[in-house]
Amino acid sequence: MDHHHYLRLALTEAQKSPPKPTNFCVGALLVSPTSNPAILATGYTLECPGNTHAEQSCFIKLAASHGVAEEKLGPLLPEDVVLYTTMEPCNQRSPGNMTCVERILGLRRDDGTQAVKTVVCGVHEPEKFVGENQGRKRLADAGIEVMHVDGLEEQILAVATTGHGKNVA
Ligand code: ZN
Repeated sequence: MDHHHYLRLALTEAQKSPPKPTNFCVGALLVSPTSNPAILATGYTLECPGNTHAEQSCFIKLAASHGVAEEKLGPLLPEDVVLYTTMEPCNQRSPGNMTCVERILGLRRDDGTQAVKTVVCGVHEPEKFVGENQGRKRLADAGIEVMHVDGLEEQILAVATTGHGKNVA
């Protein structure tokens, strides 16, 4: 499983996200190494209608391809599915928006176990908008492994903050 490879592909998704001062441009992939093709879905911030996040766009698109609602996606995911996201899944959003941590936690198999057991991310969520991200702990408490892959932080953050204006030195 080449985490770096898939994270780089997630970064190319992030680059498609329309830059906005109030969002991070994030990219995500759902990957199943034993499936053909291995990439089940791609997504980026604001790809799907509404104020959608990258992970959310992956879930919406994959659910739509199966003809089910997003919350019914869990049992359809392969056992080895991995969620790649350039930035750690969000744990706080404005009222009325479900967080990506909640969306991941909500994807259950028919026996009630978590459908996504591995999340690979490139950077922690910067504290600019939401303060410290407790999402990793919530996911870990549910038995979901959150892995951090080094090496792309600079590029990921540069893409994520494309719409935030230039820093004046
Ligand atoms: Zn999110």
